Amino acid sequence: MTKLKLRLAHLYPKHMNIYGDRGNILCLRRRCEERAIAFQADELAPGDALAADAYDMVFIGGAQDREQRRVAEDLLKVKGAALREAVEGGVTLLAVCGGYQLMGRFYRTAEGEELPGAGVLDIWTVHPGPRARRFIGNVVVKWRGATLVGFENHGGRTHLGAGVRPLGRVVAGFGNNGRDGGEGAVYKNLFGTYLHGSLLPKNPQFADHLIATALARRYGDVPLPPLDDRIESTAHAEAVRLATRRGIIGIGGRK
Ligand code: GLN
Repeated sequence: MTKLKLRLAHLYPKHMNIYGDRGNILCLRRRCEERAIAFQADELAPGDALAADAYDMVFIGGAQDREQRRVAEDLLKVKGAALREAVEGGVTLLAVCGGYQLMGRFYRTAEGEELPGAGVLDIWTVHPGPRARRFIGNVVVKWRGATLVGFENHGGRTHLGAGVRPLGRVVAGFGNNGRDGGEGAVYKNLFGTYLHGSLLPKNPQFADHLIATALARRYGDVPLPPLDDRIESTAHAEAVRLATRRGIIGIGGRK
């Protein structure tokens, strides 16, 4: 049998990497290699071309507005078309916070500047202005009968178009816009989220969901034998405890 391999494109690792976003790549690598699945991560900087069919998964992390501006220009001129083709073709994509915002139609900054998004995902994000409250803190999200945990820090409020559904429901924290209870977005195999942390090491079920989804496109259903996730489960439980220790701070609750 040919050895399975997961090919990942890591977009803009130098520009888009805060609150441990790079840890997501380490987690994916470990969870693949422990199952004898080869893992290849190519780092793509501004100016580097993206071949739409060369990858099973794409990752983009978060950043401040300044880096987002640099990347928005590159998405517009260099990688946007290939990214749209990849997502429409079923490639798995994980986008976190600033990267999530840039997968959409646009991100309007606090100063009112409109940064164009890649247009891969029908969402749009508006920062209500420099005096608006930032959404900062630990988050717990209900996701497919389980929970996702992470840390959010964003000023932008994200709204979803008709063909996009939220990744999960906010139990504690703010999520997309602090109003409608949604966190993140799913379209085809694109998963957008505000959760940093790193996200995947504390949410091994989600990491495996991404790996299985990414491999299925090339190889069909690939069984992923369970790993020893005792440390990950402890970290997950601790994150839930931290996020909910003053009672459930959810939508409509104490903010
Ligand atoms: N600059 C964006 C915002 O504040 C995203 C920040 C981030 O990625 N943490 O909404």
